[in-house]
Amino acid sequence: MENHVNLEFPSRSANEGFARAAAACFAAQLDPTLEEVNDVKTAVSEAVTNAIVHAYPDTIGKIAMKLRLREDHSLEIVIRDWGVGIADVDQARTPLFTTGNEERSGMGFTIMESFMDTLKVRSAPGKGTTVTMRR
Ligand code: ATP
Ligand code: MG
Repeated sequence: MENHVNLEFPSRSANEGFARAAAACFAAQLDPTLEEVNDVKTAVSEAVTNAIVHAYPDTIGKIAMKLRLREDHSLEIVIRDWGVGIADVDQARTPLFTTGNEERSGMGFTIMESFMDTLKVRSAPGKGTTVTMRR
């Protein structure tokens, strides 16, 4: 049975933990293993952190998260921002590539890719970024 939840929140760092917990709660209806829940939480944490840190570096902007249980029992998570966008998505997805400071390791997209089954990134400079993950 299809099911979904749509959430919207400002890009404040406190909301990263909220998004992670909300995704774990939503995933619970799939009766996942602890490992599966942790993988989903980690992937959401990376995507939302990117929206907070990179999409809106000097402002607070809107982040939307859609959680969807598909008919085939897979989980789809879409995290969207309307921030600065990414000029070269292939480059951004390369392991260790970062435009961030020394706190960043450039591994976020690589982690999302390895912890989820599929990762799609759509972005346009000045328009924002949409990250779609399935598991
Ligand atoms: P880490 O995630 O390891 O802390 P990171 O965030 O730099 O480091 P990735 O998450 O892989 O690494 O992202 C790579 C790069 O892609 C970022 O440095 C940033 O330039 C760009 N990027 C990622 N997400 C967004 C976004 N939502 N908006 C704008 N730029 C982004
Ligand atoms: Mg990151």
